[in-house]
Amino acid sequence: MKETDKGADTKSSMWAHVHLGRAMVGGEWISAQSGLTYEVHNPLTGEVLGRVPKMNAEDCRLAIGAAQDALPAWRDKLPAERSRLLMRWRELILDHREELAKLMVDEQGKPYSEARGEISYGASFIQWFAEEAVRDQGAIIPPFAHGRRLLVMKQPIGVVGAITPWNFPNAMITRKCAPALAAGCTVVVKPAEDTPLSALALAYLATEAGLPTGVFNVVTTNREGAPDIGETLCSDPRIRKVGFTGSTAVGKRVMALASSTVKRVSLELGGNAPFIVFNDAQLDLAIKGLFTSKFRNAGQTCICANRIFVHAEVMPRFTEMLLERVSRLKIGGGHERSVEIGPLINARALSRARDLISRAQEQGAQVLCGGKRLNVSLEEDKEGVFLQPTVLANVTSEMEISHAELFAPIVSLISFESEAEVIEMANDTPYGLAAYFFTEDHRRIWRVSERLEYGMVGVNDGAISTAVAPFGGVKESGIGREGSSWGLAEFTELKYVMIGGLG
Ligand code: ADP
Repeated sequence: MKETDKGADTKSSMWAHVHLGRAMVGGEWISAQSGLTYEVHNPLTGEVLGRVPKMNAEDCRLAIGAAQDALPAWRDKLPAERSRLLMRWRELILDHREELAKLMVDEQGKPYSEARGEISYGASFIQWFAEEAVRDQGAIIPPFAHGRRLLVMKQPIGVVGAITPWNFPNAMITRKCAPALAAGCTVVVKPAEDTPLSALALAYLATEAGLPTGVFNVVTTNREGAPDIGETLCSDPRIRKVGFTGSTAVGKRVMALASSTVKRVSLELGGNAPFIVFNDAQLDLAIKGLFTSKFRNAGQTCICANRIFVHAEVMPRFTEMLLERVSRLKIGGGHERSVEIGPLINARALSRARDLISRAQEQGAQVLCGGKRLNVSLEEDKEGVFLQPTVLANVTSEMEISHAELFAPIVSLISFESEAEVIEMANDTPYGLAAYFFTEDHRRIWRVSERLEYGMVGVNDGAISTAVAPFGGVKESGIGREGSSWGLAEFTELKYVMIGGLG
């Protein structure tokens, strides 16, 4: 077969497997034991994209068993062997970038350029951890007495459960699974109910890359079945660690359930990111940063700017610049190349966002633009669930909207007068994931960076995510870090060995 034909063959095979209506357990494409399935919808058109198994606790236990069986051989491979297989998986993902991005647009609704960016971003975690795998060293400790030697070795924690959200259907899986696999762990992934197809495509490519049977398993279920599978992953003693990205409410449940068998958890939960524009900021830079941080994925990321604090002196000019740029935002179906904002994930998300806006209005906020459902004319008279990009003025810290995670293209403007006041307002939340601020004062950069109670701070920039830095939050935004060399440590145990009797 010619190389090009071979490529085309893998591609059509990937589609065939993703649309088989099966999940991946122990190297096999299997149905739920009950035979039940559920539909996956396109949020833009509402059309059915495919059906996947509606699995339950029993199916999940089978997957855990497969991962447990695969663990010894995977753990015993040389790190360089695991690294090579991970790099092969990464290559296949990048070879299929177009198809994976198009599938993501269909399944999740984000614009094509963002979907393509996410595939590269997702693959960057695999590369990073494939490279880290061969460098994860232990230690020899100087002995406390003669005739003894003390050493510390690093070992994989064991079978890992990964529960992932719909807003990054690819990268949230690779961000958890690449370090787990690099460390020598095997995984059971439960992707979000809205976006299982992207997860199954990753499973197909993992198999093609030669990851051994049972090392990477995907169990699918709908919203109704999520607690059942979630509970199994969090309480089965064979799982030694759960990595979760999602809401704070479910994250707390995961942590409580994991305590029954004292599992390690990493939780990447909700945020309420402050975005602060000081009066000495470069306003065009701040507007650019705000658009990157606020409107990415239609405002549906956990690090999206949520409360926009603008110094009173620059508020009029900033608002004018903001409204001008918002009026030029291109909204529509993600396959159209110039589109910047796609639909929200589902009708539930739209009605939640609209309720938040109307309650903010009742409490005194002013809608400067947007606020309503947007009718984007689509083929076949189908209407996506779009919210008009919305700017709210006169918001105060007391309003409900200042305490809710918006997850929608809503800019909520809050005025402030002093640095001390804005730091107090910014920290006045149980969340602590990402924060952003814009200033030209180098002393203020240090001062404010140190005082913001957040796991990540972007200064004069709205794009902070990268595989090379530790991603994670403090307070109720989570525990643990993903990405960077710290991300690998989340999947290893330290074992101290003392050798005595050496003379
Ligand atoms: P969102 O509101 O963004 O969907 P969730 O926290 O509800 O965030 O979902 C994140 C992930 O957690 C998804 O994979 C979802 O299916 C899963 N999930 C939902 N409820 C539970 C639960 N009770 N236990 C474990 N996982 C759950």
